[in-house]
Amino acid sequence: WEWCHEIPKIELHAHLNGSIRDSTLLELAKVLGEKGVIVFEDVAHVIMKNGRSLPECFKLFDLYHILTTDHETVARITKEVVEDFAAENVVYLELRTTPKKNEAKGMTKQSYMKAVIDGLRAVDTVDVALANSDSSTDYCLEPSPINDTQGRIKRKKIYVRLLLSIDRRETTASAMETVDLAMKLKDYGVVGIDLSGNPVVGECQTFIPALKHAKELGLPLTLHCAEIPNRKEVQAMLGIHPERIGHACFIEEEEWRRIKSAKIPVNLLASFIMLHPCSKHPVVLCTDDCGLFSTTLSNEYYLVASTFGLDKGQMFQLARSAIEFVFADNGVKQALRSIFEAAESNAI
Ligand code: 5GP
Repeated sequence: WEWCHEIPKIELHAHLNGSIRDSTLLELAKVLGEKGVIVFEDVAHVIMKNGRSLPECFKLFDLYHILTTDHETVARITKEVVEDFAAENVVYLELRTTPKKNEAKGMTKQSYMKAVIDGLRAVDTVDVALANSDSSTDYCLEPSPINDTQGRIKRKKIYVRLLLSIDRRETTASAMETVDLAMKLKDYGVVGIDLSGNPVVGECQTFIPALKHAKELGLPLTLHCAEIPNRKEVQAMLGIHPERIGHACFIEEEEWRRIKSAKIPVNLLASFIMLHPCSKHPVVLCTDDCGLFSTTLSNEYYLVASTFGLDKGQMFQLARSAIEFVFADNGVKQALRSIFEAAESNAI
């Protein structure tokens, strides 16, 4: 099954704070424990626990956010997360995160995002292509390829794009601020808006205006949709024509027909694909929160391949099919097609 690791992969659904290494979380918890902010032993136990319910996951996110409140830590986790995905042979990563304000740390939503971008600039084990290919800003990290003596590219390269998440707990004004920030950061690799957060919290009338605002500004949307049964909300979400949806666990027949006829791709973890009525519908395998769920994208590929009896060639095609759903521009899509073309002879 090494080939699950070897084939190039595209990750379209990864939350920054859900993708942190356990070792980093433990290290951060130890420091806060020494300062008396938390009780390290209690937190270490929670971090290392396996198998969590959905409400437990959201409690854990609150803990993660206590551990990652300053700019330096945000930059550090971003760097590590990108390096970890690149090590999995992810060639294109759309990393999503919720811009956060924290007055005590002098953090604004914008300075939070600057820390994320600083983290991308700090990646050194792999070349990061960040800004849109047609932009020429400071933050353009398009690397010059490093060739070996035979002229082959030696270093790995990962395209990274950012999605700004709106948390369902936010007010309309705060969600609008995130959308406006995303517009401002378009030249810095931001390509769209995500809606996430605890699905039992928040009302769609609070965040729908901000999502509509994003649409009007031309920002693509990816929404956490139907993680729990809530038909009215699913209908409202489909009414704003999101470009992609995630999870889609509790969808009624009629809404499925809408999703299928609009060909809205669904991002899923392997365990969800196994339960999903989505055959012949575009799906993209993802990790969601590889730290929280102790998984990797290669592992998700392995789970799907072994459960459905799919071979290397079929999984390669599944990976390649995600190119059409990335939010980056056509130049990046073309570059990804070339990467997959070059890898095809090994895969089939
Ligand atoms: P962050 O945005 O802080 O970088 O990543 C963690 C946040 O992503 C969580 O606080 C939560 O709002 C969101 N998130 C992560 N995983 C999930 C998920 O499976 N479902 C939903 N609805 N939100 C999630």
